[in-house]
Amino acid sequence: MSETSPKLRAELEGIPTYKPGKPAAAGGPVAYKLSSNENPYPPLPGVLESVTGAAASFNRYPDMACTGLMNELSDRFGVPLTHLATGTGSVGVAQQLIQSTAGPGDEVIYAWRSFEAYPIITQISGATSVQVPLTSGEVHDLDAMAAAITDRTRLIFVCNPNNPTGTAVRRAELERFLDRVPSDVLVVLDEAYREFVRDVEVPDGVEFYRERSNVCVLRTFSKAYGLAGLRVGFAIAHEPVAAALRKTAVPFGVSQLAQEAAVASLRAEDELLGRVGSLVCERNRVVESLRGQGWTVPDTQANFVWLRLGERTVDFAAACEGAGVVVRPFPGEGVRVTIGEDEANDIFLKVTAEFRKDL
Ligand SMILES: *Cc1c(COP(=O)(O)O)cnc(C)c1O
Repeated sequence: MSETSPKLRAELEGIPTYKPGKPAAAGGPVAYKLSSNENPYPPLPGVLESVTGAAASFNRYPDMACTGLMNELSDRFGVPLTHLATGTGSVGVAQQLIQSTAGPGDEVIYAWRSFEAYPIITQISGATSVQVPLTSGEVHDLDAMAAAITDRTRLIFVCNPNNPTGTAVRRAELERFLDRVPSDVLVVLDEAYREFVRDVEVPDGVEFYRERSNVCVLRTFSKAYGLAGLRVGFAIAHEPVAAALRKTAVPFGVSQLAQEAAVASLRAEDELLGRVGSLVCERNRVVESLRGQGWTVPDTQANFVWLRLGERTVDFAAACEGAGVVVRPFPGEGVRVTIGEDEANDIFLKVTAEFRKDL
């Protein structure tokens, strides 16, 4: 063996590794996974059939242009095909957006705490993260984000609703913010949880894309549509951003199984959105119960709730695990808990009630 190892890019040093939600313990009494914001419902029979059908030809490469899915999305959103790009989950598309806009010396602005993929994909590109703290109400501080823009800013993420706090920014404040962003800086509205939003003042980012050439909307099939394991998401963006996304895509990244499942899901949307409605009811029940127990819970528009537990975070996560639900701790800050099966939510609420007594 030679003495020296291959030279790797210095930017890779110190990149935090993405922490997947912990799986539910196998073999335990009851164990529910509330750590990854997944959809607890199993695949719809029709969607499953489309995937098993596509499986018969996985010796072939997928349709690289994702033609069927692109056509479906184009009709559904009323956007030209040239304004669409698909990718390996919306995280994949987000990474392509950074690759397309930012490199060493450039800055990427986002709120913090927000989606944990942002610092990772920013650092991989060699660009610098500019993290702007959330307000005391756990909401994006859009004024501070606008003030953080410099002539090196290339991309700004607005995670709406925000992962992990669930809070969402409203139309008027987002509009005011967008007015302050120079038109050569790309604003990415990451709307992974859009389908769970019930506050009518929270805008559909597509409205802003239609009016502004520097706005890009990111959506995913992983959450409301229940396809997390298949890896497919997409962006709606103007040329040349959408064209850049097609250039930076991993060839054949989106499998044929994922493409077929996404099309089948869009066609079964009524049923899927019915499930989302049930999850939203559960979310409201959980939030009300927590507040009834005396907890401060930020208003969530997503499929999870956030408890700022500070130093008690790790203990609380351990208590949850002991009771049969796995949650997502951010040590020293808080826990994010996905709305899951009704029984799982009940277990979580039992733990919070017990924990409350000791606070
Ligand atoms: C879950 C999530 C995504 C979606 O990830 P996929 O790669 O599409 O599975 C994107 N953004 C945020 C903020 C998320 O929480």
